[in-house]
Amino acid sequence: MNYQNTLAFAQEQDQNDPLKHFKARFYAPQVNKRDAIYFCGNSLGLQPKSAQAYLDHEMQNWADLAVEGHFKGDTPWFNYHRLLTASSARVVGALESEVVVMNQLTVNLHLMLVSFYRPEGKRIKVIMEGGAFPSDQYALETQVKFHGFAPEEAIVELFPREGEHTLRTEDILQSIKDCGEELALVLMGGINYYTGQVYDMEAITKAGHEAGAVVGFDLAHAAGNVPLKLHDWNVDFAVWCTYKYLNSGPGGTSGVFVHERHANNPDLPRFAGWWGHDAGVRFQMKKGFIPMPGAEGWQVSNAQILPMAVHRASLELFDEAGMDNLRAKSEKLTGYLEYLIDDVHVGKDVLEVITPRDPKARGCQISMLVKQNARELFNKLMEAGIIVDFREPSVIRVAPTPLYNSFEEVYRFSEILHECLEAVKN
Ligand SMILES: *Cc1c(COP(=O)(O)O)cnc(C)c1O
Repeated sequence: MNYQNTLAFAQEQDQNDPLKHFKARFYAPQVNKRDAIYFCGNSLGLQPKSAQAYLDHEMQNWADLAVEGHFKGDTPWFNYHRLLTASSARVVGALESEVVVMNQLTVNLHLMLVSFYRPEGKRIKVIMEGGAFPSDQYALETQVKFHGFAPEEAIVELFPREGEHTLRTEDILQSIKDCGEELALVLMGGINYYTGQVYDMEAITKAGHEAGAVVGFDLAHAAGNVPLKLHDWNVDFAVWCTYKYLNSGPGGTSGVFVHERHANNPDLPRFAGWWGHDAGVRFQMKKGFIPMPGAEGWQVSNAQILPMAVHRASLELFDEAGMDNLRAKSEKLTGYLEYLIDDVHVGKDVLEVITPRDPKARGCQISMLVKQNARELFNKLMEAGIIVDFREPSVIRVAPTPLYNSFEEVYRFSEILHECLEAVKN
């Protein structure tokens, strides 16, 4: 695409954008009494205006029906989570039976690890990305200890080559091969939260399986950001949160994928609860856990109706927009951001884009390593009404989302970035 560093070009892109009307369906946060430019959907997505009505609906059912709401009304809570299944399956590329919405992300990660990290003999190792999101690191560290291993003996962390910021697929695949018969599990992000790199989930899954290991992904930064094909890629399990790109509110619920080949495997250990018990006889309250078939059999507690109501409102927008349309816009929008960052930065050596330059190897986020006055630059951007985020030691993450961000916002951002770079110069 031939980009231009002009407001007119940006506005023309917006006019031709088939998804442009979605912006008005979200609330815009305010800075200095003006709409902020919000590029933090990778951390907490904006609120869909429709969410309140879905929430009110369940609050009203609770007021009117109280306990009867579990089985009565137009959205009985007993099966409420199922209202989310089809849309969630479309977002991650799964069969409906492979998906369930429940709990929160790290909790679900633990539940999946109980079933899918099953060290045996010398096959005890887990491959993960070095510098993974801390919650994933802590989950893994404590899981391997739970099995009686020291983290240093069981966890293999992958780091980029000297002088590089992202992992090369060939190196990931080689590490999997090298671990060979010692490898029990590969657990990676679908997209690295820090660099924005998309991993080749299909190739990693294939290599993991060839080594005889199980392969799972944390899709916190991938779900709702890039199209996924978990079923076709043969991924064993995956988890994601819904409050980042999926715009389902702070502390929102989470999703789980379990490939259908594991759906009815009674040999998989799991930590069960009544909501995963055969729904037909759940209220007989009898002894002996009988898991529901598919991902639903991993449910533990009864569904969190209020966060799920918000999630439902948001998923409807994703169905309306379509992941492929979102991705098509996203590649252009983030490409434009990359082009403008390069353009305003010409001749300087303050910023380095550490996100892959190849659009196929990234989602919507661009991470800029700031080599001088990183904090000051970040503070100036925030003061000017740009909401981005700062990750230690010196990275600013900028994530224009295709659902509610515009080309004009990306253009305005670059103007302000230019001014702020001048202002913080040594
Ligand atoms: C956001 C994020 C989390 C957060 O976990 P919660 O359990 O939802 O608090 C965990 N892992 C990754 C990779 C994330 O990006």
